Amino acid sequence: MIPSRVPTSADFQALEQEIVGFLEAIDQHPAVPTKTVEEIRSKVKSTFTFDKPRKLPDLIHEAAQLVRTGNVHTPHPRYFGLYNTASMPAAIMADALVATFDPQQAAYSHAIACHEIERHALRVFSDLLGWAESGFASFTSGGAESNLTGAIAGMTWKFPSYANDGIRGLSGQPVFYVSAIAHDSFQKIAHHTGIGRDAVRKIAVDQGLKMDVAELARQIVEDKANSSLPFMVVGTAGTTASGIIDPLPEIAALCQEHGLWFHVDGAWAAAAILSPTHRHLLNGIEQADSLTFDAHKWLNCPMGAGMFFARLKDPVERGFAVNATYMPPNPAGADEPYTTTIQWSRRFIGLKVAMTMATLGLDGYAEMIDRHFHQGDLLRKLLQAAGWEILNSTRLPVVNFTHPRIESGEVALDHVLKSLLDTQECWLSISPVPPNRRGLRACVSVFDTKDSDVERLVELCNAALG
Ligand SMILES: *Cc1c(COP(=O)(O)O)cnc(C)c1O
Repeated sequence: MIPSRVPTSADFQALEQEIVGFLEAIDQHPAVPTKTVEEIRSKVKSTFTFDKPRKLPDLIHEAAQLVRTGNVHTPHPRYFGLYNTASMPAAIMADALVATFDPQQAAYSHAIACHEIERHALRVFSDLLGWAESGFASFTSGGAESNLTGAIAGMTWKFPSYANDGIRGLSGQPVFYVSAIAHDSFQKIAHHTGIGRDAVRKIAVDQGLKMDVAELARQIVEDKANSSLPFMVVGTAGTTASGIIDPLPEIAALCQEHGLWFHVDGAWAAAAILSPTHRHLLNGIEQADSLTFDAHKWLNCPMGAGMFFARLKDPVERGFAVNATYMPPNPAGADEPYTTTIQWSRRFIGLKVAMTMATLGLDGYAEMIDRHFHQGDLLRKLLQAAGWEILNSTRLPVVNFTHPRIESGEVALDHVLKSLLDTQECWLSISPVPPNRRGLRACVSVFDTKDSDVERLVELCNAALG
């Protein structure tokens, strides 16, 4: 039997019930899984029986119930977690449209409208960076892919023979520089580009946890003297664990001096560029050669929405060039996705971002970001008033904290976290803070988190101390 293409009204009704039912009462909903792994596994098996066809509305309800009870809920207003966020209605609807049209975005000529929507949306951020139309921008699956794209562009720019001869065509070992607390995707990138994980130079951080630029300069000179081949420095704009912004202007100057590619990993915090009151914190970001900026973090778009920007197009085009004669021609002369990015067949990532931006407006984003800055300050203030110690120094709304009773050994940090998660009211995590501290980590990133949610978090933290 040939299945129907068109969802029925019963399908839509089931979907609407699940979407509205979950979202309208989300702050009453547990933020963490309420079922055990065994219960989840057994329910998955009984729901997805592939032996005979099942009714779609039933599957919609059962799948939603599984996810409701078996996940940490990143859209929860008291999800103080890993920069994940909540989708706004525009994005939920956009993803349904994308699944309906399922455009093929490998080739420009197959999905002209989709590409033009994406280019138009990405242009907003290139303009904020002051980067010319002659630069490059694309959506990616996320920050890890964007960072890899930046590294490949940087290697291609620095080593013209890398494309054909690979690493063995070089006269020495390529190396690049990140701060000791940079994102660990760079370990995988070193592995996957063939330069090897030992090629990642982890530069010590200063007392404020920022990359120590004097140490960076010293290491570059030492590497050059040892016939290694430095090609890139990564400045992090908002480290994952502690929200630290490396000294971007100083790193940019060193890159200039030594002829190195400057990549900024702003996966989460690059979004502060949308706030006229806070964008100064990112000064120097505009001097980057390439930038990672996730729409699925602070821009509150659903996952699978990374963005990559490069000031020059040529190294990106050379980094991903390929001549596939079976692909359709591109008479418009526009950027051809499959020859400028890692992915080939690719989802229409940009619609959810463009639709969210258009319904909220850039002022709406600025307001949300400023509110989160305020809530980060509120969290620090309330914690300190209750005797907690703040371990990281940042203006960004991510807080590492501990308590004298934890430090004295009276209460175990892991026990405090477990008590917090057992309340099912919130999600947060534990993070190390160099050189040798450990603390709870809470980040405000969900668009409709209220001050009262932050207050509740502090009450829960106090109660978890016992
Ligand atoms: C989250 C994060 C990444 C990884 O991005 P994904 O979108 O998860 O792939 C990279 N760098 C930093 C600083 C991050 O916070």
